[in-house]
Amino acid sequence: MENNLLLDLAKKHGSPLYVYDTEKITSQYKRITKAFSKVKNVKINYATKALSNINILKVFNKLGSGLDTVSIQEVKLGLLAGFDPKDIIYTPNGVSLKEIEDVAKLGVQINIDNLSILELFGQKHPNIPVCIRINPHVMAGGNSKISVGHIDSKFGISIHQVPHIKRVVENTGMNINGIHMHTGSDILDVDTFLMATEILFNTAKEFKNIEFIDFGSGFKVPYKEGDIATNIEDLGKHLSKRFNDFCKEYGRDLTLMFEPGKFLVSQAGYFLATVNVIKQTTSTVFAGIDSGLNHLIRPMFYNSYHFIENLSNPKGRERFYSIVGYICETDTFGTNRRINEIREDDILCFHNAGAYCFSMASNYNSRYRPAEVMVHEGKDYIIRKRETFDDIMRNQEIVI
Ligand SMILES: *Cc1c(COP(=O)(O)O)cnc(C)c1O
Repeated sequence: MENNLLLDLAKKHGSPLYVYDTEKITSQYKRITKAFSKVKNVKINYATKALSNINILKVFNKLGSGLDTVSIQEVKLGLLAGFDPKDIIYTPNGVSLKEIEDVAKLGVQINIDNLSILELFGQKHPNIPVCIRINPHVMAGGNSKISVGHIDSKFGISIHQVPHIKRVVENTGMNINGIHMHTGSDILDVDTFLMATEILFNTAKEFKNIEFIDFGSGFKVPYKEGDIATNIEDLGKHLSKRFNDFCKEYGRDLTLMFEPGKFLVSQAGYFLATVNVIKQTTSTVFAGIDSGLNHLIRPMFYNSYHFIENLSNPKGRERFYSIVGYICETDTFGTNRRINEIREDDILCFHNAGAYCFSMASNYNSRYRPAEVMVHEGKDYIIRKRETFDDIMRNQEIVI
């Protein structure tokens, strides 16, 4: 996105501000569907939790995408955005049987990730087909908080428990219509991914009525120069062929599914913040902005790198800065960053601010969450108003 457009948006809508470019979302969506165009039935289910503004969901609906959801509230957002329940898959972890039943009543595809709930659900609702989430125990993931395939992960039913799953299916008469895995964000390479898919193919063979295989996500996008990104075209080439062969072996055309979040929206987002203060200490120069871990927690929570640039002084001399927030604890966005000279009131831009940024924002320090703007077909729209003091007081009861 052009610097001047971003600066204009900051001027028009104030700061801090999230800006999303739907053109980038569309091109990423087309990239992944094109990579798998040799497979007859492909379904991309956008992972809602990455960025759940209803307008963004509507953009995905228009593109023909489905949705991957992890809570009944995300399911409800998806339905409100116009998705057919059939195009929504619900992949919760650690939720109650009651919530799963409520979602099933809405006509959404259920994906179960533990044996105890599988058994209870099968006993009560043998006629509702379910997908099972398998943990293939393939190590993938750059960070322990987002690695979900390893042996002691809480996600999925262990591949070693497939005999137990089969016993539950036989005893309850329930129907397994899909096999799923999601081995976590930051899959390092296509080979590791393909290794995990073999485990899923083997599992699928154990069940007679499979309609789809969902390979989850974890695709990597670059956050800085030199980052490895998942080569989706390469994965498409190898997995499409393998999938088509498997369908022949299995005896019917299955649907290949993915549920990317980061891949589809990360690079479409920009976070704009104003520099409140420049503080020169004996060891470093801090630029303090009108934001903090309440608005963008990834750097503090996951140690993520977000490229930061100074939109207001693109020709300024480059100097080294630590970019910090205004929260009353350490909230550092980046240290030792080489950035065009920063002055108070300059607008800084954080890249890759589409996925897990606004959706993880909070009101910590009783601050307002930022506004969100969507740039769509040449126009900019406010898609979430900046909060006000009423939002801080909403639901609080004054009792004394
Ligand atoms: C979060 C999540 C995703 C999306 O992961 P990305 O790394 O953003 O692509 C997909 N599937 C499930 C089940 C998830 O929980």
